[in-house]
Amino acid sequence: MKFEAIAVENIPLIHPGDDLPSIICMNMELQDRDIVIVASTVVAKSEGEVFRLEDITPEEMALEIAARSEKDARFIQAVLSRSREVLIEKPFMLVTTLEGHTCVNAGIDESNIEDGFLLYPPKNPDVSASRLGKELERLSGKKLSVIVTDTNGRAFKIGQTGAAIGIYKIKPVKRWIGEKDLFGKILEITEEAVADELAGAANLLMGEGAGGIPAVVIRGLDNYCEEDISIKEIYRPEEQDIIKKGLRCLQK
Ligand code: GDP
Ligand code: MN
Ligand code: MN
Ligand code: MN
Repeated sequence: MKFEAIAVENIPLIHPGDDLPSIICMNMELQDRDIVIVASTVVAKSEGEVFRLEDITPEEMALEIAARSEKDARFIQAVLSRSREVLIEKPFMLVTTLEGHTCVNAGIDESNIEDGFLLYPPKNPDVSASRLGKELERLSGKKLSVIVTDTNGRAFKIGQTGAAIGIYKIKPVKRWIGEKDLFGKILEITEEAVADELAGAANLLMGEGAGGIPAVVIRGLDNYCEEDISIKEIYRPEEQDIIKKGLRCLQK
């Protein structure tokens, strides 16, 4: 058993309006059932999610949070503009985004973008993944899955990993419930976070710095699924999310 992870080399610096699917196809011969993993950074750049910090005018709530946390109010305003709920203000902004993804700074980056600019994440990463996937399929003539990734921290552990924030034609979790273990016992709760695991694997080739590898192809795993499922399937339903409930209690 084995699979491959292949970096897509020679991708240029991406700018608003760039045709990412064509650029990927020019630099990679895609095969049926490849999983194309693309960093949100370049998806966002191509979608024009680039903003000048000095153009952002902080509103009252941003000014308040900035005063309490000693951060730039314009940056806080940017984060708030993409958040539906703030779970932690200090020492970092942990928020749930408008799309329902919970992460630090709403996924807004100051790295891998010119000085003085902020890179917001794609507005709807699922839609981005579908658009990329359909166009990559059209250009290559192959059946493909797509995962749009970002680097996310994890509660309880040091170290960030690649995480899936948008998907196309892949099941985000593999349900092991009902399957047998080595001793014939029936598994009762395990659901494997496949899309996040693949994002993590791809991130090994992307890195976080100047590597210039924003796309990776995973080949040899059969995770292709005809249905275009939403990443929202893996966001824990509010009523079951006891960690979020705990964080809300701490704020009171
Ligand atoms: P994020 O995890 O989506 O926030 O993306 P990162 O900023 O960690 O970058 C992931 C990879 O993409 C790294 O190898 C970066 O050097 C690379 N990268 C970021 N922007 C560009 C770009 O415009 N062009 C190219 N070729 N690589 C980029
Ligand atoms: Mn990022
Ligand atoms: Mn990253
Ligand atoms: Mn185990």
